[in-house]
Amino acid sequence: MKFDNIIIGGGLSGLTCGIKLAEQGRKCAIVSSGQSAIHFFSGSFDLLSKVDGQEVKNPFEGMKSLASNHPYQCVGLDNIKRLADEAPKLLDRAGLTFSGQADQNHFVLTPMGVMKPTWLTIDDFTRFEQNDAFPWKKAVILNFSGFLDFHTLFVQDGLKKFKVDTQIKNFAMKEFDAIRRNPSEMRSTNIAKVFDQGEDALNEFAQKVNELSEGFEVVILPAVFGLFNKNVAAELKAKVNKPVVLLPALPPSTPGIRSQILLRKRFEELGGTYFLGDNVETGTIENNKLLAIHTNNHGDIKLEADQFVLASGSFYSKGIVATREKLYEPILGLDIDGDVDSKKWLDEKFFNDQPYMHYGVKTDSKFRALINGKPIENLYVAGSVLGGANALKEGSGAGISLLTSLHVAEELLK
Ligand SMILES: Cc1cc2nc3c(=O)[nH]c(=O)nc-3n(C[C@H](O)[C@H](O)[C@H](O)COP(=O)(O)OP(=O)(O)OC[C@H]3O[C@@H](n4cnc5c(N)ncnc54)[C@H](O)[C@@H]3O)c2cc1C
Repeated sequence: MKFDNIIIGGGLSGLTCGIKLAEQGRKCAIVSSGQSAIHFFSGSFDLLSKVDGQEVKNPFEGMKSLASNHPYQCVGLDNIKRLADEAPKLLDRAGLTFSGQADQNHFVLTPMGVMKPTWLTIDDFTRFEQNDAFPWKKAVILNFSGFLDFHTLFVQDGLKKFKVDTQIKNFAMKEFDAIRRNPSEMRSTNIAKVFDQGEDALNEFAQKVNELSEGFEVVILPAVFGLFNKNVAAELKAKVNKPVVLLPALPPSTPGIRSQILLRKRFEELGGTYFLGDNVETGTIENNKLLAIHTNNHGDIKLEADQFVLASGSFYSKGIVATREKLYEPILGLDIDGDVDSKKWLDEKFFNDQPYMHYGVKTDSKFRALINGKPIENLYVAGSVLGGANALKEGSGAGISLLTSLHVAEELLK
């Protein structure tokens, strides 16, 4: 099978790269073995929240102090500005509405009741412009009886710091009787499916919310609305007669799975081919060129392309792997940007910047992968599989994934 471009990995990075290429008429395929980090999505995409432990107000200003091998520096700060403007428009074309500014972080309330700086927030959730105040003083925190993935006491505790008077209320609905009998079934996605199925459940629910929130200024609920139907959260907000603040529940994330579904749909509508549940095992490289990849499901049928993108994620998705002895990229044995000596991987102080978090696949200045220091001419690398950043510590995860993928797509389109 022959394509113009093949992308290995169907997470945020692989999908946005594929969409940009397909929008420009490229015949693309994405091969993805399984779940991606989007399934754990909190509802916000971070660009840059901290540098050297200090909170950043304007991510573009903060980027100036990043190390020269940081992915943002490698893309170039002017390119980053341009691509940060393009990214929400691309997401919007896929049906995902985000708001936020790249030159000024806003804040979102976490399920721990803490205000966290971020870049883009999906429209299910509420944006706050200040991190030291909550706009309402009397809040009701509502949860579904038997739903263990939303920790109301943490929310209540966090809101105390903002001097908010809160009350927690649990309630039951007959629609959830069947799934509540088994705690492993009472998950956010199963609750979301009930509301996806028709307006009756949502109407009944909204009526209950209105009753239970009498005397309060704002309603806080877990984000379990709109798995396949993206309008459910907005419809609920329209039916409730006071502001509704949704907070992320424990994974699987309902807005995250919806985002993955919509990005994949957009890619396929543009003519892209998405091979889900297929693992790329190896590839054929000749004269510093990747000719084809070989996958689990395709057996002897090789997948060929003019150019390839590796967007296989970090340790979590096994884009890079560490054993006791070695750190490696499992598909092609690409060069790694990281210490060979395993004693240097960890800092003994748990909360310090851990060296291994900066590790990833090494590239040249065009984001091409290397083997023994030599670039593979037609193999580009994007997303969290890249080295050079501690995305967790600096709050830059989605920013790196989105903006390196758009940059790499531009390299392929040159
Ligand atoms: C659990 C978790 C939650 C996060 N939540 C947030 C958040 O809410 N906000 C934020 O800003 N950042 C978050 N991040 C940071 C995250 O890195 C980025 O947001 C981003 O989603 C990563 O996208 P990616 O495409 O680079 O990698 P991934 O999402 O990891 O996707 C890589 C994909 O490649 C596939 N793959 C790997 N190897 C192969 C192979 N051999 N063959 C075929 N397919 C393969 C995997 O199955 C996976 O689907 C989170 C990270 C993690 C780990």
